[in-house]
Amino acid sequence: LAQLFRPLDLLGWVYRTVRQGLIDMAAMFELIDTPAEVEDAPGAPALVVRRPGVAFENVVFGYEPGRTILQGLSFAVPAGAHVAIVGPSGAGKSTIARLLFRFYDPRSGRVTIDGQDIAQVTQASLRAAIGIVPQDSVLFNDTIGYNIGYGRAEATPEAIEAAARGAAIWPFIERLPAGLDTEVGERGLKLSGGEKQRVAIARTLVKDPPILLLDEATSALDSRTEQDILATLHRVSRDRTTISIAHRLSTIAGADEILVMDQGRLAERGSHPALLRAGGLYAEMWRRQQAEKAAPAGQSG
Ligand code: ATP
Repeated sequence: LAQLFRPLDLLGWVYRTVRQGLIDMAAMFELIDTPAEVEDAPGAPALVVRRPGVAFENVVFGYEPGRTILQGLSFAVPAGAHVAIVGPSGAGKSTIARLLFRFYDPRSGRVTIDGQDIAQVTQASLRAAIGIVPQDSVLFNDTIGYNIGYGRAEATPEAIEAAARGAAIWPFIERLPAGLDTEVGERGLKLSGGEKQRVAIARTLVKDPPILLLDEATSALDSRTEQDILATLHRVSRDRTTISIAHRLSTIAGADEILVMDQGRLAERGSHPALLRAGGLYAEMWRRQQAEKAAPAGQSG
């Protein structure tokens, strides 16, 4: 009997893996406009993550021949550390995220996780190791429980509840008439931006990845909600290697290291206080954002 079921298990696994990949892609919509064109190397093994350190080693990359975006980028995120990537629009922040997901391969140099070149392992294992909390999450026209547990078919109601608690959305779900079985999305209950963000966090908790990629919302939540979500993310990212792409510097001031990108190069790096002291690009961006915050809404251009 086991013999009979194995192919079915495999099929189920393939289905879930592909689906997980597709949904992560959909979630990455903001990060990617071209479908992935990379293929698994023949006989590629799965990524084995024991200590989830991430490294970019002298990565050169461009989307089109003749235009280089990343010009020999090197940085390391030690296992368990939180590194934030900031920089002006077009600096290459999202490009780094796309390379980490291996939507593209570098022209030269390599990206490694726990010492393994991500171009040499299966994409399914790579993507299983990284959870994204994107700026705008896609909700399915299905129940809120499904939306939290999808992509992990074996997620029990208990696991879904635990994830919802971890993402601080359980009290909200508990008050819904049908609890986890409440329909959400276009045809069901509409969730606020903050609630959707929490569903995305709960989804990530169900997946339980060793590496987190936080892609900060540009569309602002109200500041109270934002503070609450940040506190939740902070809790969730403890004990995980975390890379965040941030537009608002106030959200990443506590990162272990901040990488300041400018035109595909690492312009500055350091902790928030060190970068402020250095008085360079980061200090200038910080000063500008503080001034914008102080100005009445709508007057900052
Ligand atoms: P933002 O803060 O505005 O999101 P970013 O720092 O994330 O910017 P990237 O999206 O990484 O910037 O873009 C870096 C450069 O690569 C930009 O000059 C952009 O025009 C270019 N670029 C991005 N995606 C593509 C693509 N699919 N094809 C060609 N060029 C691209």
